[in-house]
Amino acid sequence: MPVLALAQQCRVTPRDALGPFYVKGAPSQTELCASGSGGSQKLAVSGRVLGTPDCAALAGALVEVWQADSRGDYTQVGAKQDDPGCLLRASLRCDPEGRYSFRTVLPGEYPGRPRHIHYRVSAKGYATLVTQLYFARERGVADALVVKAVPKDGLLAATFDIMLARS
Ligand code: FE
Repeated sequence: MPVLALAQQCRVTPRDALGPFYVKGAPSQTELCASGSGGSQKLAVSGRVLGTPDCAALAGALVEVWQADSRGDYTQVGAKQDDPGCLLRASLRCDPEGRYSFRTVLPGEYPGRPRHIHYRVSAKGYATLVTQLYFARERGVADALVVKAVPKDGLLAATFDIMLARS
């Protein structure tokens, strides 16, 4: 592969805001809303975590994800009662090929924010990346953070690969 094409492919994923709703230590679960109470539109997200400079697969990378439900509400906020079957948070470990995947419901919009899923991705020897996945091009959002959610077997499927910078 030409060097230039390789360099472009291994471009570090842009950062985005952490936001106020990150909670450390989310459960290890690939189903973020098993009860289905967070919305009716099911979503499957999968991807790989890779590292610069050579796009190496980062086996064992930690992918933390958190999102709002279809109404735009987060769990573990204030005194509100949460559905433990729909925490909409997870900590995921990448497999030997750097792959991760989870199932959830499509997040809703909330005041001032388009639909998004928050990510915090960390791996030994690499700079921790905090970012967000979006479902449509948005003003002020890097194109690299926008996924195409495609209808498939009754749900939406999206792929989101993440490139970390070596620290
Ligand atoms: Fe948010």
